[in-house]
Amino acid sequence: MPRASSAADRFWAKVSFCDHELWCPYCCWEWTARIRDGYGVITLRNDAKVNAHRFAWELLNTLPFPRGLEACHWCHNRPCVNPFHIYPGTKLQNMQHSVKDKRYSHGANHYRKRFSIENVNNMRSLFENGNSMYSIAKLYKTSNSTIWKIIKKRNWRYT
Ligand SMILES: [Zn+2]
Ligand SMILES: [Zn+2]
Repeated sequence: MPRASSAADRFWAKVSFCDHELWCPYCCWEWTARIRDGYGVITLRNDAKVNAHRFAWELLNTLPFPRGLEACHWCHNRPCVNPFHIYPGTKLQNMQHSVKDKRYSHGANHYRKRFSIENVNNMRSLFENGNSMYSIAKLYKTSNSTIWKIIKKRNWRYT
């Protein structure tokens, strides 16, 4: 067995999956092993310690993580290693993103005021039909994290 696949096996053995299908994009999959600064940590064979969520991105994309960028979470859930929730961003994006999120979390569900139920249904069906969150966010001129929240909260109701 090649080394890479055994590292992947060791990695996935430490992830708490949701009950949906494999590669569920909706739920957070939390790391069950070592946590440092809120983030999961995996120790590789060469003894290097890497952030588990960053490693998850590499496994999904079968690419080394882009140099100079940080592994950011759409879901703002640090121990989450669902590769669909991870994106490479600059340090600045990462900071702006979390500041924005804090601000928004005060006025809970701010997006309800901005989007109609038709908008929301349309975003979900676009996503279900294979459009990326990024393209939907662009279409509605909003952030990826807003789209992510809307799509993830499948039972969310417009009131
Ligand atoms: Zn799920
Ligand atoms: Zn997550």
